[in-house]
Amino acid sequence: MSMDRTIKLKLDVSEEDKTSLKNTVVCFNKVFNIVAEYGFANHTHSKVSIHHATYKDIREQYPELPSALVQGARDVACEALKAVKKMRLPVSKPFSAIRYNKRVIRIIFEHGFASIASADGRVKVHFTLPEYYKQYVNWEIRSSTLRYDTADDVFYLHVTLRKDSPEPTGDTIVGVDRGIVNVAVCSNNVFFNSKEVKNTRAKYAHLRRELQSKGTKSAKRLLKKIRRKERRFVTDVNHCIAKEIVNMPYDVIALEDLTSIRVQNRKGKNFNRKLNNWSFYQLEQFIRYKAEAIGKRVISVDPRYSSQKCSKCGHTYKGNRDGSSYRCRNCGFQIHADLNAARNIAHAGITCLSRLSVNQPNVGMNAVQDTAQ
Ligand SMILES: [Zn+2]
Repeated sequence: MSMDRTIKLKLDVSEEDKTSLKNTVVCFNKVFNIVAEYGFANHTHSKVSIHHATYKDIREQYPELPSALVQGARDVACEALKAVKKMRLPVSKPFSAIRYNKRVIRIIFEHGFASIASADGRVKVHFTLPEYYKQYVNWEIRSSTLRYDTADDVFYLHVTLRKDSPEPTGDTIVGVDRGIVNVAVCSNNVFFNSKEVKNTRAKYAHLRRELQSKGTKSAKRLLKKIRRKERRFVTDVNHCIAKEIVNMPYDVIALEDLTSIRVQNRKGKNFNRKLNNWSFYQLEQFIRYKAEAIGKRVISVDPRYSSQKCSKCGHTYKGNRDGSSYRCRNCGFQIHADLNAARNIAHAGITCLSRLSVNQPNVGMNAVQDTAQ
């Protein structure tokens, strides 16, 4: 099994080279659109037939674009057509991010240097590799994406890296409940609900409201800055929580499957909105990749009844829960409602594990974006 990580590097590019790279991005996206239009009109996403039909014209129209990038644009367009099953026309904007395969880019992490093919020959760029990313220097580079931030006039390189992951062992399990009041509660009685988190979020919400009501240009700029800071705050907290959970003495971490629609019934309409607000998805991604890196497993369990069921006797009744307190009408067990849910998630995880050991375990992971702290 292998694991993929995507890291984001801010590039230091001279003004002259910026012009070359911008030109390259624009050309690439034009080629993408030509290919997509041809494939859409002719109901095909076949790289070979699209290549034969469009390559010559494209070369004549954009002789400055290296042929490997023309092919790259074609490949991306074919994949986009395939992804939408040719039901609609995929369209690239002039400054959509563009993909570089190994032939058209060379990255040397140790020297903070990359050489990138452009419409004006090779462009040399520099970057500072954040300390946190140094763990990746020996990983295999899979693909790179060049993105131009038009607002800030900055180029970023997103690099996807791969390494073999350690084999998972053991089957002791901890259940984690994610919620609004407590960001996370673990079945081993650990709560993550710091006052600081709540206060900071309240502060940002207040600032946002004030700036939104002003509506001036400078207020808008400040609002953007605050949103960025807030996102960064959430990311940092999620990193810390994920790290603590993954370092607990358990082999397997059980989480509720939040993609399931049933979560809506369980926690109410507002939950999903707040869920997005807090980026529970991000927290899960962080838990997954940190766990994977040290050979621990993460499993998703059915969230049904995890808040209604008694974690001691199994009696399931909606009225057992009242806000943050849980009291079982059957056995009299009393416990914090989120902790009760976390224990149910751990139990569901155990059931899930025994099923997995019968059917081959599948713990494949998608590439996740790693954000330096
Ligand atoms: Zn009970």
